[in-house]
Amino acid sequence: MTYACGHVIREQLYGDNKDRDRHITSALNRQCRDCYRAAITAAAEEVELLKELSPLTGSEKQIEQATRIRPGVLEELEKLKSSISNRKPINVAGEKILAIMHEWVDERINQDSSSWWIENRERDYFSFKLEMNRELEPKAKEIIAQHNKENGREVKPDDSSNI
Ligand SMILES: [Zn+2]
Repeated sequence: MTYACGHVIREQLYGDNKDRDRHITSALNRQCRDCYRAAITAAAEEVELLKELSPLTGSEKQIEQATRIRPGVLEELEKLKSSISNRKPINVAGEKILAIMHEWVDERINQDSSSWWIENRERDYFSFKLEMNRELEPKAKEIIAQHNKENGREVKPDDSSNI
């Protein structure tokens, strides 16, 4: 079959004549598998350059896979980062909590382990947000308790209107 990229690849075609014709026509309109993968990798590498991402570590195969995965997962992490940036802290405790949230997300955005990106390839904004809230909750409560102590008033740690 001849592909749009100009590569000719011998392939076993199944089905009746109509199916075969459909396959041959569709091949003419798209790139072969290798060119398609190379294009995705090139696009992903461009994103890395633009964003000045840290170089990935791991085996050559892991790095290749993670390079393709990273832009999509990164987009979800950046959604979370901008939702944190959009929050307006009403006091010092709130500022501190937002700061540890930023730190949490940045740690992941700057993750350089290929296997981390591969393991997290299915993650979206909501799942990262859930994990972040669960992990940071004890620390956030501590910050609020400390703030209340310093300010001499008792506010329930889970009363977010006081953050
Ligand atoms: Zn090709």
